[in-house]
Amino acid sequence: MIAGYDWRKSEPRWQKKWKEWQLFIFNTRSQKPVYSIDTPPRYASGALHLGHAYGYTVIDFAARYRRLRGYNVFFPLCFDVNGTPVEVKVEKEFGIKASDVPRQEFIRMCSEFAEKNIAEMKHQFEILGESMDPSIYYQTDSKEYRKLTQISFLKMLNRSLVYKGNFPVNWCPRCETALADAEVVYGARETTLNYLIFNVEGSEKTVTIATTRPELLCTCQLVAVHPDDNEKNWLVGKTLRTPIYDRRVPVVADPKVDPSFGTGIVMICTIGDKDDLDWAMKYGLILEKGIDERGRMTELAGKYEGLGTQEAKEAILRDIKERGLLVKQESLQQNVGRCWRCETPIEFLQVLQWFLRTTEFKGDVLQMVDMIQWFPEFMKVRLRDWVNSLAWDWVISRQRYFATPIPVWECEKCGEIVPAREKDCYVDPTIDKPPIKKCPKCGGPLRGETDVFDTWMDSSISPLYISYWLRNERMFKKLYPNSLRPQSHDIIRTWAYYTIVRELLLTNERPWEHIMIHGFILAPDGTPMHTSAGNVIDPIPFLERYGGDAMRYYSATCALGMDHAFKEQELVRGSRLCGKIWNIMRYAGGVCGDKSIRKTRQLRTVDRWILSRFYHLVEEVEKHCDNYEFDKAMSTCENFLWHEFADHYIELSKWRAYNRSDPAVRYTLSTIALGTLKMISIFLPHVAEDAYQSFLKAHDRALSICISVWPKRELPDEMAERAGEKIKNIVASVRAWKSKNGLPLNSPIDFIEIVGAEARTLSKDRLDIKETLRARSIRLKEVAKLRTRMRGVKPIYSKIGPAFRSGTEAVLESLKDISPEVFSKRFKKGRLELILPDGKRIELGQEFFEIEEEIISSGRTVDALIVGDMKILLPRIDAKS
Ligand SMILES: [Zn+2]
Ligand SMILES: [Zn+2]
Repeated sequence: MIAGYDWRKSEPRWQKKWKEWQLFIFNTRSQKPVYSIDTPPRYASGALHLGHAYGYTVIDFAARYRRLRGYNVFFPLCFDVNGTPVEVKVEKEFGIKASDVPRQEFIRMCSEFAEKNIAEMKHQFEILGESMDPSIYYQTDSKEYRKLTQISFLKMLNRSLVYKGNFPVNWCPRCETALADAEVVYGARETTLNYLIFNVEGSEKTVTIATTRPELLCTCQLVAVHPDDNEKNWLVGKTLRTPIYDRRVPVVADPKVDPSFGTGIVMICTIGDKDDLDWAMKYGLILEKGIDERGRMTELAGKYEGLGTQEAKEAILRDIKERGLLVKQESLQQNVGRCWRCETPIEFLQVLQWFLRTTEFKGDVLQMVDMIQWFPEFMKVRLRDWVNSLAWDWVISRQRYFATPIPVWECEKCGEIVPAREKDCYVDPTIDKPPIKKCPKCGGPLRGETDVFDTWMDSSISPLYISYWLRNERMFKKLYPNSLRPQSHDIIRTWAYYTIVRELLLTNERPWEHIMIHGFILAPDGTPMHTSAGNVIDPIPFLERYGGDAMRYYSATCALGMDHAFKEQELVRGSRLCGKIWNIMRYAGGVCGDKSIRKTRQLRTVDRWILSRFYHLVEEVEKHCDNYEFDKAMSTCENFLWHEFADHYIELSKWRAYNRSDPAVRYTLSTIALGTLKMISIFLPHVAEDAYQSFLKAHDRALSICISVWPKRELPDEMAERAGEKIKNIVASVRAWKSKNGLPLNSPIDFIEIVGAEARTLSKDRLDIKETLRARSIRLKEVAKLRTRMRGVKPIYSKIGPAFRSGTEAVLESLKDISPEVFSKRFKKGRLELILPDGKRIELGQEFFEIEEEIISSGRTVDALIVGDMKILLPRIDAKS
């Protein structure tokens, strides 16, 4: 006897074979249509977690589907090895700050850390059955990749699309770098609102102003009230004196002031938050820097210089309180921006930065957004809203280390920028010499730029990099725009947006035809997984317990674009399904043998029925997969295989299956088993390959099911479908009747009669019904003479008890003796005359008993089942025994 499916043996075996056979290598010479995937380069900052395992599996569904549909699939294997995520991990692991070690040494540490993770992730991709192409491998820290980032920057610099500017930017004091708006995560925080007393100059009066950031008093330049605030607008035009610093600050009226916040009077500091900034711009205030790049108070803060912002806040509040200038404090829920990498609250700092002009291209970006097809469609709104909300240009420089250097030198005397020559890239201006020795303007010495690019500057050209932009015109035409950008919804504002804006500026073309956006996997209780919450699920123990296909099955239960709580049960189900698939295929393979099978004309109704159902299945799976709704495709396949093909067709055709002179059943079985298995191989490639190689390859002859031809199908046959459904329903209800009566499904029955106006249309199929149900005879009749006969009455205890109480027993006793003859005499107008044991007569309403009848056909007592517009008559089981 052959044992069942063993994924532990099968999965590694096929993974090894697929590699050996080089199945997933992109064929540059093929004439087939190209399907190119802009694979998300996986961050090399740590091993895959469950959400990544899910995300990459969904992308793999798309790749495998297109491969089967005859596309030349371009699916690069790639890793993102730049930037702060890796740096932060390295700093944590070694307990250092980047600035503690020499620049090149730190970069080397980051690189080593990343390589270690990459090796692990490659292995994880493999055991998940991902079909990425290792021959088109890239890492974003490679010289080739960084070279393209630099050249793309130089092209934009040349067209004045980038500029160096001294504008306030979001700043992480821990990472000591500028951040783009998209890298700032907003969230609630509990803080204190402090009510401070300001003196009104030239008067005895004081006013109270509430602030959450008293440490910024050293940069307070202006106070504002709302113009319609009648209680406060006497202040307009007056001058106030700030506590501690005794600065003179004028009061203005400004409609942006919220009169209900605090005392309705606002102190404006440069630079506390974005509102302060807007005001600073509006009133032309000098941007004063109270906090430096490391988050410490500057000399402006006087005695608080050098303190961190939190310490400074505590110290200044102590002093204000001592002087009696603190009126009260209350707690406040505040929305605060934090660094997306390290969660430190951000500051606004004015630091010289590189910017890419993006705000002026909003309209063009929105147009391009519409030229891309979004799956699911509603995700497009998120990008649109983001684009519309953008107020600042993209700050593309970072004051970090492990990233692509900005390829420019700067004159130390006059600030003139000397860019690298394209042919010299990749360059590192902190090491490499400039293309000219001296400043072309003033002859001053040149200094290499130490700033590096925001990592999104690298990853936003991934479609250009993989399409050989500027390197191979023929390949570029073949691959660009890419067919698909797959990604998660949390990086719509960054990766999707930046890619669209960069490719717009560099190629004036959309980067992709489709974008597919998947959601997150949440903890089993539906909360987001976070390292800090300690609920991050490692996929490895689950992969070891249930296998790669089971994990992929789970991914195939998740609807696109939604977040999903993790359910281990789905892995159990997936693993069981693999066993079921393998058994069905083994059966089909056993019947079909290993000789090739030709199409036959001797198809029976049930064959044509399932072939027509299969036509619709393929059609539906195509529709779902074209829309990236893989969850629907998988469940459609699963239902068909299990609940139509196995439960019904295989049962209905078993009696013919081993009959060598019946080619119809073999043709049907092989067509459907193979075709369904091919579609299932998108989701569960290991079990599909195993079953294909073990049982069905003789009928298809591809090297691997993964590169076989998409299922063939017969044209639909509506008539056969209707008839087939009838047969299926008849057989199913008789089988249900058998099991209800305690009969084994294969137990023979004396007869079956099918009665109904259209019963005779089943005459060609009588054998299928008879043999499947193991009936000794079958009759099809338009009408049957049926008589019903009363067999007895059955008391309804729940009614009799409460109504008759102590007399209940007497009533039950008398009901027991009612024979059909007696009943016909004493039952009139719905009431039964009953003679109690003591001779007393009562009348019993019909609510107290049921009349039991039996059906008689041709003198036999039968059971009748109603199936659609037909009646099925079967021998009555208890009458026989
Ligand atoms: Zn940070
Ligand atoms: Zn100069």
